[in-house]
Amino acid sequence: MSGPAIALHGGAGNLELSSDSRFQISTELDRVLKLAVGRLEAGEAALDVVEFVVSLLEEVPLLNAGIGGALNAHGEIELDAAIMCGRRQLAGSAGALRRVRSPIALARRILEESPHVLLVAEGAEAFAQECGLDLVEPGFFETPQARQRWQEATPSDHSNTVGAVARDRAGNLAAATSTGGTTRKHTGRIGDSPIIGAGTYADQHAAISCTGDGECFQRAVSAYDFAARLNYKADSPELAAHAVLEKVHTLGGTGGLIALTNNSRPIALYNTKHMAHATWSEGLDFRIAF
Ligand code: ASP
Repeated sequence: MSGPAIALHGGAGNLELSSDSRFQISTELDRVLKLAVGRLEAGEAALDVVEFVVSLLEEVPLLNAGIGGALNAHGEIELDAAIMCGRRQLAGSAGALRRVRSPIALARRILEESPHVLLVAEGAEAFAQECGLDLVEPGFFETPQARQRWQEATPSDHSNTVGAVARDRAGNLAAATSTGGTTRKHTGRIGDSPIIGAGTYADQHAAISCTGDGECFQRAVSAYDFAARLNYKADSPELAAHAVLEKVHTLGGTGGLIALTNNSRPIALYNTKHMAHATWSEGLDFRIAF
């Protein structure tokens, strides 16, 4: 199996989701998946497709990325995102953003136009402005649901980060992740999502986007561990995914991941109550699941 394929997630979580939320999230994942599949079938590059997918999911208010991002301890929103091109081994990421409308678009600009990998806070926003990206007032991202979660949440509750991995017709892989992080996080906290090798990673053999307790994914270097297990230990993708989540679990965390290799079907695995995700590969059906 080596044709085009894609997986996207709308975050792993342990908080109950109402049937209405599940329905709305499924509808959005279905919509975005179909658009992405059209692009992959037309021969678009995996890197462009994962950026496209994540930029659409950032605009879905029910998901914890862009609009709808989780509120930090001060009730403010700080967004993180990363993108990585497997073929070129180039990455761009950004953290603690308050005014950049599309964090994933900024991550892509950092990948393409900056000598750096990770920019944060005001410096990242200045770079976004230099690139001509849309800046908005911080209040733009806040939704009543995220405010309510903030009121009810215990520190570090997480859910509904977004991510995508894709394999294009040429066999190239890419990964992207975008998040508001964990509810009631400390100001300035950066999670695993924008840390290359922790929450997001792609090389010529694997692409992965993680979601869950970011501190545990950082300490486990989860995304790179997945790729390394394939390369060094010749684990199967399924075994590698299980081992990665097992390690997160032993560090006290829960979460999930989506992944692709050169020749695998899309993998979606989680040890939380749910992880909204959608997958497709050429010749196989669309699949939307929690
Ligand atoms: N992993 C993200 C973070 O820790 C949160 C999530 O996936 O929901 O920032």
